Amino acid sequence: MKQVTRETMEAQKYADSIQLPDTEQVFRNIKNAKRFAIDIGGSLTKIAYYSTVSYRKVLYNAEKDGAAVTDAGDYQYESSEIERLHFVKFETKYIEHWLDFIRNHLMCTKESMMGKSIKATGGGAYKFAELIQQKLGLVVEKEDEIGSLIKGCNFLLRNIPDEQFSYSRHEDPEYRFINHEPNIFPYLLVNIGSGVSIMKVEADDKYERIGGTSMGGGTFWGLGSLLTKAKGFDELLQLASAGDHRNVDLLVKDIYGGDYSALGLTGATIASSFGKAMHHGQSKGDGPGFSEADLARSLLFTVSNDIGQIASLYAMLHGLKKVYFGGYFLRNHPVSMHTISFAINYWSRGAVQALFLRHEGYLGAIGAFLMGAEECGKKKILNLYWFIHVIYVYPPTY
Ligand code: ADP
Repeated sequence: MKQVTRETMEAQKYADSIQLPDTEQVFRNIKNAKRFAIDIGGSLTKIAYYSTVSYRKVLYNAEKDGAAVTDAGDYQYESSEIERLHFVKFETKYIEHWLDFIRNHLMCTKESMMGKSIKATGGGAYKFAELIQQKLGLVVEKEDEIGSLIKGCNFLLRNIPDEQFSYSRHEDPEYRFINHEPNIFPYLLVNIGSGVSIMKVEADDKYERIGGTSMGGGTFWGLGSLLTKAKGFDELLQLASAGDHRNVDLLVKDIYGGDYSALGLTGATIASSFGKAMHHGQSKGDGPGFSEADLARSLLFTVSNDIGQIASLYAMLHGLKKVYFGGYFLRNHPVSMHTISFAINYWSRGAVQALFLRHEGYLGAIGAFLMGAEECGKKKILNLYWFIHVIYVYPPTY
């Protein structure tokens, strides 16, 4: 296991969402992209694309071995091209804008794309197939959403170093990265996107969607937009980080005056989410006693706690010990990961482990990408072993 500081992870977490005017920057490597896949969800569209990137490696000058290097002339360089998988996401409501941008700035001509295809997954692969074909001239090859998610997840678990980790706020280190295991199965995959899908995965080709809940990332974003003035998901998450849920939630100690020891419930346990807001608007004079930030945090707890409990129950029902979380909702955010880990541990009495993924938001796009790559038999991309050597997966850019 490798220790990673909070700072390392924090670097990933609050980066701005992609702004539309930054399209040149976002697609900086796309001009020489060789293959694309797109996952069009209810909230976000995720693109995985593969391109080569030139880089220069500094080699130490053998003649001066051991001596201090004084200027650039003392170095030797090795230039090479490496192949990488890049990721981009944008809000699905802007899909027309993005397709126009790609057509106008990144494609040679629409005619040159005629007859070529793109792998697409997610509900939008169906909803927007005609639009994509009409704007880009590409044939949309639809791939099943669940199959793509699982393929992407299996690939990451097998091939990408430091992909999976557990999170424990009160331990040092908080993040524990888990090494590859020869056998990744069986596991439960809980994909928290706009809604939540829960899959039992027993082998590459043996999986089933065994459950789900409509209370997911879309609920947090939607209700959060109703309850606060936050502009967008990132602001909502920032509010939640700053808030204090105890001003909004009714705790065990608010009812019992302390712990409920007979049931092993501490006074700090949430008895009723948003319970303290029940008399909101009825009393005149003093303010509500909670802020927008408190509301956002309480909402994040409500959604994460429930998903954690449901995931834990499904895992125990099916005798599974590992639960992986995918989808764009978590964002590797400590508050959500802590709540989910706590709920899983509490309800399973430590029998089930919550595990998170660095590329959690891109499982479907990676899976669809791999399906396209595998079909390209001529280039022997079918050979996954070869694939491992040529693709390095970038840390996601949020
Ligand atoms: P879907 O495929 O249903 O769009 P995703 O896995 O892409 O699902 O997750 C979408 C959810 O991710 C949103 O509903 C929201 O809760 C969360 N999210 C995280 N970051 C952002 C962001 N920058 N913009 C919008 N939603 C975000």
